Amino acid sequence: MENCIFCKITQKKLPSDVLFETDKMMVIADINPKAPHHFLIISKGHIETVNDLTEENKDLIAEMILVAKDMAHRMGIEKGYKLVFNVGRPGGQVIFHLHLHLLGGWHQETHEVHI
Ligand code: AMP
Ligand code: ZN
Repeated sequence: MENCIFCKITQKKLPSDVLFETDKMMVIADINPKAPHHFLIISKGHIETVNDLTEENKDLIAEMILVAKDMAHRMGIEKGYKLVFNVGRPGGQVIFHLHLHLLGGWHQETHEVHI
């Protein structure tokens, strides 16, 4: 999709800090982190929001969550983290290309964070 920043990143037309990738997705560091560790699991296909997902995307979504879990272990934050899909403008979505936020790395036993 033209003019979509995450299409440009996944097609490597824009530079980013890529930590992991498969044929379906890419993991990058968030440019404006809202937690000590903040990564984005971005689908390689242009899907605008969770509301556009169908049965056909089951494998993609499962893979995104499993990759997020593996990343949490790799980063040593598996004890506690958040996985967030912002959906639509009222849900805080700014970039309309499917991505899952992985946030963690807080030291407290409990905390509140809003992204
Ligand atoms: P959302 O509000 O769910 O659409 O989240 C978009 C996220 O993308 C925000 O956390 C931004 O900080 C992040 N972001 C925007 N541009 C870039 C970029 N070029 N590289 C990495 N992360 C980005
Ligand atoms: Zn896109």
